[in-house]
Amino acid sequence: MSHNTINRLYLIQVGSMPEYQIPIVCYLLQTHDGQNILIDSGLPQMIPEEGSDFENGQDVIEQLALIGLKPDDIHTVISTHYDLDHAGRHAAFTNARYIVQRTHHLDAATNPRFAATRPQWDQPIERIRLIDGDLELLPGLELIETSGHVPGHQSVLVRLPKSGTILLPIDAVPFAAGFTPDQQDDPNNPDAAATRASILKLLDRVQQERIELVIFGHDNEQWAGLKKLPHYYD
Ligand SMILES: [Zn+2]
Repeated sequence: MSHNTINRLYLIQVGSMPEYQIPIVCYLLQTHDGQNILIDSGLPQMIPEEGSDFENGQDVIEQLALIGLKPDDIHTVISTHYDLDHAGRHAAFTNARYIVQRTHHLDAATNPRFAATRPQWDQPIERIRLIDGDLELLPGLELIETSGHVPGHQSVLVRLPKSGTILLPIDAVPFAAGFTPDQQDDPNNPDAAATRASILKLLDRVQQERIELVIFGHDNEQWAGLKKLPHYYD
């Protein structure tokens, strides 16, 4: 019988989009055997012109220091996708192995949308684990392929000893209001069908099993009521 390995989930707010009151966030998981797994890394230190809607807060490295961690203590970076507000500090984690969907990594190589973060995510290939679809990375830690927002976007499901199962849809479902089967397609989204399929895939998980908490990717109202680093879910 497999034993869940994740002991803690930290929620980290590293910035915002002030105009829309949207939090920019990343997450840290800690395993029972002392591994530190970061999910995304937030905004870059210097925000490029195309990201002028974003504003930096206390960055991920400063916040990790608050709980006694240095960048080199991060063993794994789960990369949900390479947008500016999710992959902006990847290169700081020089001991880490990055985990990303193959389709996303290959798309990013030629997609100008991800050019600004390229110095962050374009690491030596031996440091990148390319995966294809859903994966149980560790007992109690699943990666769920949820394309639509971008090709090869991934969401994360984590099982904790006390808090139970927590789903992190990331940008597959940025706001609580969008987590419904009758979500209207956004006419500006070229991948609306994939976006909807991914929402349905995650809704299906919520129906199939007991999920205690869904933490939406950029939902300010929900975020205000959640525990943030140095506090954690265990
Ligand atoms: Zn985002």
